[in-house]
Amino acid sequence: MSLRRTLTLLSATVLTAAVGLSLPSAQADPAQLFEYAVDAPSTEHQQQLLQKFDVLEDRDGNTLYVLGNRSTATELGRAGFTPTVHRELKPITGAKPSTRLVPGAPQPADPIDETFYGGYHTVNAHYAHLDKVAKEHPELATPVVYGKSYLKTKNPAAGYDLRAICLTKKQTGDCALNPNSAKPRFVMDTQIHARELGAGDMSWRYLDHLVNGYGKDAAITTLLDTTEVWLIPIVNPDGVDYVQQGGANMGQRKNRDAENGSCAGATVGIDLNRNWGFKWGQGGSSSSPCNDGYMGPRADSEPETQAMQKLYTQLFPVKGNDGTAAVGDVRGLAFSIHSTMGAHMFPPGWDTSNGPDFGPLNRIAGKMASYTGYKYGPIGKTIYVATGSTLDWAYGKLGVAGFVTELKSCGSFNPPYSCQAGDWAANLPTFMYLASVAAHPYQQ
Ligand SMILES: [Zn+2]
Repeated sequence: MSLRRTLTLLSATVLTAAVGLSLPSAQADPAQLFEYAVDAPSTEHQQQLLQKFDVLEDRDGNTLYVLGNRSTATELGRAGFTPTVHRELKPITGAKPSTRLVPGAPQPADPIDETFYGGYHTVNAHYAHLDKVAKEHPELATPVVYGKSYLKTKNPAAGYDLRAICLTKKQTGDCALNPNSAKPRFVMDTQIHARELGAGDMSWRYLDHLVNGYGKDAAITTLLDTTEVWLIPIVNPDGVDYVQQGGANMGQRKNRDAENGSCAGATVGIDLNRNWGFKWGQGGSSSSPCNDGYMGPRADSEPETQAMQKLYTQLFPVKGNDGTAAVGDVRGLAFSIHSTMGAHMFPPGWDTSNGPDFGPLNRIAGKMASYTGYKYGPIGKTIYVATGSTLDWAYGKLGVAGFVTELKSCGSFNPPYSCQAGDWAANLPTFMYLASVAAHPYQQ
């Protein structure tokens, strides 16, 4: 698909309720985007869609949602599907890039204040935030550089470091890159998919919430006295850098590796959440470099994947059972945030089974849903089979209990910034709860 060439910014502010609309006319503006509802009653149907189309992270019964322009309807028809227009997404012209890039705009005095699209923080702002917290709370915060983005591996003057921060009331040996830590670890990663703007904002807010609440709020104090909370606010900084340039760039989901993920300038990159080497390429990803779910030319091909795997093996002991048997009382918890289904899910994502640790993992997800009202269940069964993900790898290889939250995000992966307050209020209790069970997730 050449969708990205014509992609224009989507926004919940301009969504037109259009359920049941007939298909777009041949005269429709090719820049006009639609969200198509597609009936996919079997795993085979779902896989066919995921291989060829930009399938959104949402599901309602047997209905999946495909993002595309007017020609996408024809392509879906040729593939044997009967799409209907679920929503018409009106283009926004002049979507603003980051403040740094607007000629003549007042420049923030400090990179921490650099925003785009009405309030979302840029990569530089996120990293300045980590530095500020580390400086102001040295007794709690340990910043870590765990690798380089693809662009930085090619050119030291381009791209970004890959950065995390460890939060705990520090005792000797805490936050060391050693899997035999004194305290259990809760690792939260956000914005592996660059365009899912709300995810990174959850890390920003949670970081402030924890460091500002220590010593004042009993739950926060107990948590940081007993647990290491690791935050990776921007897993995919090259992708987010592209998104923050505004306009059509805001549809970028993947990293920016144009060697492994060459697509004639459009939809460049690899889907970093389909690239991990556990059951890689076994469904729910695409072998086409132009697809938004492109899994890469081989497992673990991307610098961002390799660096995060190395970090995980420095944080967690290797206790996985390849997903074939219940793990046992393994400590630690990995948590990823995406958008926009409104769901809490856990491995397996590689098939539609409940998986060997369904009991405790489903109880935890159910508790999260009691706060948010979201759906919950195993990934493959609840949304669709998707292999090569961070969480399947962490569970299969390391035995780490993993959860993913799909924020509701006002129904759009790039909603107005004002949407974030609602997602934050709904999900903060789930962050605190998840972190609190990191010591014994499989005994819940
Ligand atoms: Zn995502």
